[in-house]
Amino acid sequence: SVLVVGSVNADLIVRAPHIPAPGETVLGGDAIALPGGKGANQAVACARAGAHVHFCGAVGHDAFAAIATANLRADGVNLDALHTLDAPTGLALITVSAEGENAITVASGANAHMTPGHLPDLHGTDVLLLQLELPLSVVEAAAQQAKRAGAHVLLNAAPARTLPAELLQHIDTLILNEGELTAVAGAGSTETQARALLSRGPHTVIVTLGGDGSLAVTADGTHQQAALPVNVVDTTGAGDTFCGAFAAALASGQPLPDALRFANVAGALATTQLGAQAAMPTHAEIQAHLST
Ligand code: ADP
Repeated sequence: SVLVVGSVNADLIVRAPHIPAPGETVLGGDAIALPGGKGANQAVACARAGAHVHFCGAVGHDAFAAIATANLRADGVNLDALHTLDAPTGLALITVSAEGENAITVASGANAHMTPGHLPDLHGTDVLLLQLELPLSVVEAAAQQAKRAGAHVLLNAAPARTLPAELLQHIDTLILNEGELTAVAGAGSTETQARALLSRGPHTVIVTLGGDGSLAVTADGTHQQAALPVNVVDTTGAGDTFCGAFAAALASGQPLPDALRFANVAGALATTQLGAQAAMPTHAEIQAHLST
């Protein structure tokens, strides 16, 4: 099975004529509240892609908790390791302008109160999927314990930050987009940057390239996967869908080139509908586009 240890938020979204300037009040449209957070997004994507998924994270005692976890529940993700803490549920306050630009304020709330003590027993986990929206101490402890338990450890290095040497040594596969790659590995060509990271611990580095697909670099060589041509409506959640689907493919025993193809199709399909979790494809939908 796959264990996702990560953030879970409610996204409060308002469309407005423009992003308010400091001190300004802008009258927007109706507010909508949707489940979000990179951890929850990736857990939902992974479950839709066919895996048996456990989620470890934290919400508060407030009404936003039910919104934040609605799809985790609907998609059958095991929530035995979801903690309710004395802190507000994580919230992302999102204003979207008429031009499609956004301004986002994240109130991490309960996510920031997670500690290594909240981690479940990692024995029995085949694949651990991590991002960087929880305290680094939790990410590091999870990676170390999973590695000891013999799991495959996947880290999506988002949002980008400096990665401690010891954390990288516990990572099997690192997934990042081009902006994150530059933040983590410095300047250079994509392949040079990815190869530089290989020497620091991971045996596979995957770079997602938006409309150009994705690239996987290992000691044995490079696999490039062109993007599935789609009508793009909203790219929100494409990266999260890619990561969740890739973890599901690995857990089902697919070798790297097949898992890359599977995740690449899932990421593309996620861009064809509005929203992050709403647009995530099922295993059958991914399979249908793989065989065409
Ligand atoms: P992020 O959402 O983290 O910025 P990317 O934009 O690289 O990540 O997208 C993740 C994956 O989603 C890509 O590797 C690709 O498989 C798919 N994808 C994203 N944008 C497109 C697009 N315009 N057309 C087809 N596939 C896309």
